[in-house]
Amino acid sequence: MKYPIKVLRKDNCLKAFPKNTKEVSLIIKFCNKMKINVIQLGGETNRVRGTSEVPEKLNMLIDFKEMNKIEEIDIENMIITAQAGVKLNKIQNMSSKKGFIFPVNIAPSEKCTVGGNISTNVGGLQTLKYGNIEDHINGLEIVLSDGTILDFQSKLKKDNFGPKLWKIFCGSEGIFGTVTKANLKLLPKKEFKTTYLLEINNLSNVRKLFKNLRSEFYDDLTSFEIIFPIPSYFLFKKKSNYHLIIEFNSKHKINFIETIKKKMKFNKIRLLKSEKNINKSWIWSKREELVHNQVKYNFMQKFDISLPLDKWIYFVREVNNFIKINQIYTPYFFGHLGDGNLHCNFKIEPNTKKNIKLLSKFIYELTTKCKGSIAAEHGLGMLKNDLLLKYKSKNYYKFLKKLKKHLDPNLILGKNKLFKA
Ligand SMILES: Cc1cc2nc3c(=O)[nH]c(=O)nc-3n(C[C@H](O)[C@H](O)[C@H](O)COP(=O)(O)OP(=O)(O)OC[C@H]3O[C@@H](n4cnc5c(N)ncnc54)[C@H](O)[C@@H]3O)c2cc1C
Repeated sequence: MKYPIKVLRKDNCLKAFPKNTKEVSLIIKFCNKMKINVIQLGGETNRVRGTSEVPEKLNMLIDFKEMNKIEEIDIENMIITAQAGVKLNKIQNMSSKKGFIFPVNIAPSEKCTVGGNISTNVGGLQTLKYGNIEDHINGLEIVLSDGTILDFQSKLKKDNFGPKLWKIFCGSEGIFGTVTKANLKLLPKKEFKTTYLLEINNLSNVRKLFKNLRSEFYDDLTSFEIIFPIPSYFLFKKKSNYHLIIEFNSKHKINFIETIKKKMKFNKIRLLKSEKNINKSWIWSKREELVHNQVKYNFMQKFDISLPLDKWIYFVREVNNFIKINQIYTPYFFGHLGDGNLHCNFKIEPNTKKNIKLLSKFIYELTTKCKGSIAAEHGLGMLKNDLLLKYKSKNYYKFLKKLKKHLDPNLILGKNKLFKA
């Protein structure tokens, strides 16, 4: 390539490190001409083989680590403008220094990038209150598969001068285009953070408590996490009920626990710990330990689903019935109940292909019956590229393929990502 862009070669992969949008455009234009498969690399934290090369093709890995500048923090319009390679925690730290928050947060925030977060439409531990990252984007800059630069950047709150076409690049894992820059919305900081760890006796009381707290503290309730009895047992080393991690962010000091106590009878719920404005939270460290335990104790068949709130009890009952008949499966459930996302994981003994297939079919069909989603927060990548064809409607699938063909006629962006090309 005659342009001054660093490109490394290893086996069937080229790797480029563009420094700006123009360079991204030149690389992609070149790949389109030569029909080279393009894979955009953020922090590579995805768990669905979204950044894996395809063996049968020459691949161009575009590494955004040199596009890591925050270009502007506009306090008046409350917009932060960042290049695709900026790490999520840098956005949070810079916002905080200026008295704002950027309310999207996930465990690997020191590694993952704005471009990767947008392309996977990341949610996180506060999705209940703040939604996914698409709700905090005001505009994007995109490079299309032929190298065209589309400038959808904006600081306007109200702008219906044409539909917001940039939205299709959120959650499409780079197969429609490449994110190079983003205008992200900031929110004012709230002073008081209160976190509780509670033990509660059954799922129907969990649901009741959640509904009560949501109607009472809609603006302050940011997280409502559930841990089922089996993972609770591994976490607290004793026979346990359900555990909840509930967090509030508020402008004023409020005694939330008094309301919780009023709403629920004492024998049904137990306060185990509370924390106020703690940075290194013991309670959230238990939430992380839970994920490590899942690996440690080998609950490695993972399903990342979401369900409407009114279907949780039905879903769990059906799973329990299935397990009674098929005792080779042991569940390890936890999730973000507040936003509907259930991580339903299993240990399978013996862990054969046949047993995995039987369980997957059961979970996917049950979730679909409940009008839930079978890919709630981790996306599809190449790992789950057979699911759209099987579980979305024919018309959805046809439309998706048409759109892809229109935006990427040579199919150079992420071969076999989301669906098999
Ligand atoms: C421990 C852990 C916890 C997680 N928790 C959550 C959670 O609570 N909620 C949630 O929603 N998700 C969660 N995730 C998944 C998360 O959404 C992704 O891991 C993260 O957003 C990916 O960012 P990244 O920079 O690492 O992207 P990568 O992993 O590098 O890439 C992800 C995808 O985006 C594409 N991509 C990367 N950069 C660009 C770009 N500039 N333009 C176009 N496409 C691009 C890649 O090709 C790939 O398909 C979690 C992941 C981990 C590992």
